[in-house]
Amino acid sequence: MSWRDLRCGEPRPDRVGQRLTLAGWIDTRRDHGGLVFVDLRDHTGVCQLVINPEHAPEAHTVAHELRNEFVVQAEGELVSRAPEAVNPGLPTGGVELQVDRIDILSRSTPLPFQLDEEHVDETLRLRYRWLDLRRGQMQRNLRLSHTVVQSIRRTMDEREFVDVWTPSMTRGTPEGARDFLVPVRLQPGKFFALAQSPQLFKQLCMIGGLDRYYQIATCWRDEDLRADRQFEFRQLDLEMAFVEREDVLDVMEAAVVNAFEALDREAPERPFPRMGYDEAIVKYGTDKPDLRFGLEIQDATEVTRGSEFGVFAGAETVRFIEVPHEYSRAELARLEEVAKEWGAKGLAYIVHGADGEARSPIAKFLSERELSAFSAPPESTVLFGAGEPSLVARVLGGLRLHVARELGLADPQADAFHWVIDFPLFQRDEDTGQWTFLHHPFTAPIPGEEAFEDDPGAAKSQHYDLIWNGWELVSGSIRIHRSEVQAAIFRTMGMSDEEVNGKFGFLLEALEMGAPPHGGFAMGLERFVALMAGEPDIRQIVAFPKVSSGADPLTGAPTPMPADVLRDLGIEALPTEAEHGGI
Ligand code: ASP
Repeated sequence: MSWRDLRCGEPRPDRVGQRLTLAGWIDTRRDHGGLVFVDLRDHTGVCQLVINPEHAPEAHTVAHELRNEFVVQAEGELVSRAPEAVNPGLPTGGVELQVDRIDILSRSTPLPFQLDEEHVDETLRLRYRWLDLRRGQMQRNLRLSHTVVQSIRRTMDEREFVDVWTPSMTRGTPEGARDFLVPVRLQPGKFFALAQSPQLFKQLCMIGGLDRYYQIATCWRDEDLRADRQFEFRQLDLEMAFVEREDVLDVMEAAVVNAFEALDREAPERPFPRMGYDEAIVKYGTDKPDLRFGLEIQDATEVTRGSEFGVFAGAETVRFIEVPHEYSRAELARLEEVAKEWGAKGLAYIVHGADGEARSPIAKFLSERELSAFSAPPESTVLFGAGEPSLVARVLGGLRLHVARELGLADPQADAFHWVIDFPLFQRDEDTGQWTFLHHPFTAPIPGEEAFEDDPGAAKSQHYDLIWNGWELVSGSIRIHRSEVQAAIFRTMGMSDEEVNGKFGFLLEALEMGAPPHGGFAMGLERFVALMAGEPDIRQIVAFPKVSSGADPLTGAPTPMPADVLRDLGIEALPTEAEHGGI
């Protein structure tokens, strides 16, 4: 016996006259005098059941017991609805099932929230995620996610990539986050780290002659949770041998475009534009600019040299953005607070009124030359940043995004994809002052710049990021394939030979045994799917996510472990602050 002939959203007028069995959840039940109407639901839609006491007295008795979310099986004849009862808004709206038998397959206790209820507390939704998953939005999102993954796998397959599984339990991989640790009963006191990415394994696959590797890899990073970040997430992780940057970017662009097409969405045009890191920082104040709107940062350092306005005169850099809005004083005070959050001491501005007048507390200090450099159309405002270049970039980059969001400058329908390339090879670690990597230490310098040790700060890398509407979607690089270059990177980072050998000896050894030139990337899958689904939070596209405290409201994890279990692992738990009486 099969439970159903059709799914609930499938009956159409061409089946009228047929006997059908349907099964699903009770969406609604309405009593109309003697007749009972039930909307029977599954993920494909709803079908109306009609239970007539004269036609089917037994079914009618059962129908009175039905409550929302009961699971039932109903059998009867599919009939056309009376013309006045046709619902043109519903794919099944022309028909209904004239039920003569209905069985309750399973009952439901009263629900903690109704599926169509708005503003339900998210923790409650996640606590009862099995109910939440029945909602159309979650069904759509998970299926959309599936379509994207299928499309990616197809793209990879067409291009002869091999899906290789790599270990989750490994040594720490330096991707810039803390590791989740796994104690090992067989070796008490020792720990695996959960892979922050398969980075080194995929490089070893290249050295192993695999040529084209990919994986939809789960990665774990112990970082604070945010709208775009969970402890565990998936990446399209990919590596290719004997390639240059453009070969890798080409595969990524194909994967993105094919995913758009799989969802019947208008795909972005290829090739995606490329922008140098330095240009991104200078023009947009960030290495992941949102290019759906202009508001480019302009330079005024030259024009303000020798300015009467002391802040400008003494600043290493002076830059500004021209915002198409005439801000009031109160609004400017609020913008100043935003600028301060980004590290500014204050906010200089010039408001260009509707009357063409330029109004500004600093106007009296500015020369004609300066004022003409800052001229702007009526009803606009020039906002300045002055100081050390990275601070100015941060402040104006932050203000640029803030005002664009407030003024709705970004076209919500636009999809602006672009690559950022030519990143610096090193940056200074703010805490230690040491040189450190920007993404991970396996990124190759640009060809010809292998002698970076003399001036690490000037060296550029072959790293690339793909940005979509201001989100960093993809990160990757051409890797170092020569052990002496890899060793020089570790040396520049101040690592001792002992430390290098302890942590990365196996990599250096592998690089000494015939490593082909190679490169790859990783794309955050949940971010990609969330953007595709138009969801602001990746929790909406993850079946069982954690909340921002890092807990799982459904299972109650994480939980304490009994002392004897920990002892077997060579671990002793310290009292928490609460147990200390701290909280
Ligand atoms: N392993 C890097 C990451 O997870 C990506 C890459 O360089 O391929 O971000």
